[in-house]
Amino acid sequence: MMRLEYTDAQIGFRREIREWLAGHVPKEPLQSFDTERGFQQHREWEATLNSGKWSMVTWPTELGGRGSDLIEWLIFEEEYWAAGAPLRVNQNGVFLLGPTLMDYGSDGQKSRFLPRMAAGQDIWAQGWSEPGAGSDMAAIRCTAIREDDHYVINGQKIWSTRAVWADWLFGLFRSDPQSQRHHGLTFVLVPLNAPGITVRPIRQLNGLPGFGEIFFDNVRVPVENRLGQEGAGWHVAMATAGFERGLMLRSPARFQQTAKKLVQLYLRNRAAADRDPSVRDAVLRAWMDAEAYALATYRTASRLLKGAKIGAEASTNKIFWSELDLSMHETAMRILGARAELLPQAPQAGDAGDWIEGFLFSQAGSIYAGTNEIQRNIIAERMHNMPR
Ligand SMILES: Cc1cc2nc3c(=O)[nH]c(=O)nc-3n(C[C@H](O)[C@H](O)[C@H](O)COP(=O)(O)OP(=O)(O)OC[C@H]3O[C@@H](n4cnc5c(N)ncnc54)[C@H](O)[C@@H]3O)c2cc1C
Repeated sequence: MMRLEYTDAQIGFRREIREWLAGHVPKEPLQSFDTERGFQQHREWEATLNSGKWSMVTWPTELGGRGSDLIEWLIFEEEYWAAGAPLRVNQNGVFLLGPTLMDYGSDGQKSRFLPRMAAGQDIWAQGWSEPGAGSDMAAIRCTAIREDDHYVINGQKIWSTRAVWADWLFGLFRSDPQSQRHHGLTFVLVPLNAPGITVRPIRQLNGLPGFGEIFFDNVRVPVENRLGQEGAGWHVAMATAGFERGLMLRSPARFQQTAKKLVQLYLRNRAAADRDPSVRDAVLRAWMDAEAYALATYRTASRLLKGAKIGAEASTNKIFWSELDLSMHETAMRILGARAELLPQAPQAGDAGDWIEGFLFSQAGSIYAGTNEIQRNIIAERMHNMPR
């Protein structure tokens, strides 16, 4: 049975983070972390968060965390989003690689990488996709061939979020050139300033250079940067993907906050919005879905605390949050009408704010972290035992 009330300790934890955020969240919004200046500002914010030991509350205290459980992490996220705190520029590090290092890293790797990650000293990018290996990630061709105590990397990665300014990349490479598909892949941690690496920016829908494509020309990386066993990289990467689609990358608080903003937008524009009753229905649906997602996540977290694994359920979550985000932003666009397209500072923009920015980004939700079509394949095969 699920407990629906918080303990005194959890209430105290909530109060502590709320007070800390009230004293530390920047009063002026930071520039976009898809700009060089904004990236630096967000890096500094990561350091500030770390100074309060809030970088990743679930990590052990000796690695920069607070040893919190998943329920406290959900509480942290609720307060973080409610306070309007900056987006996490190191999300690939703290939310994805961090937990993977906890499970697969040696003690040496944990103490080498995690405290610097928590402090924003190392910002991480993810290097999985390649031209010709996106949904079909097992088609990876970029090689990391062992030569004595180094891997020598050659090939190309693409769509690597903020790799233009990031310090490190965690990537999946083919270490056995004769291998096929999921076999012979190795998970390697690569410093992006290594000789032989060229990173080229790719502009995204909003015009900012949010992606990097990365070219490797005989890049030498020491064997000690390997995570997990040689040839077992697929297994490690699937653990990372579980964190990405499952709980960590997109906590429910993010969507609850958008739903709350949507209700406020609707109420401020109610007279015009009510001309089409389906707008009000969509606002209500958004609110209910965000709440339902939060409750479902609390249930999942409770199960995980008792030792369960998330498995294919991560795929149902990923579809749910990405479609919810899309529908909430579409509803905001309907309420705002032509005003949505104005820059926030335009005289006629009114309360259009950054809805258009969120709308553009929500288009990507069904693509990153594995497309929703691929998630539906996983659900069909692994949850419903349907034929491939
Ligand atoms: C905002 C954003 C951030 C990203 N960040 C990163 C990052 O940091 N690092 C990284 O490595 N990658 C990143 N990606 C890349 C992302 O992982 C890929 O775009 C995604 O996996 C899809 O691969 P693809 O673009 O090659 O499309 P394709 O695989 O070519 O797919 C094209 C279309 O075909 C469909 N399709 C393909 N195969 C099947 C199938 N078997 N059944 C049904 N439909 C299918 C897909 O669903 C899709 O609609 C990011 C992408 C976005 C949009």
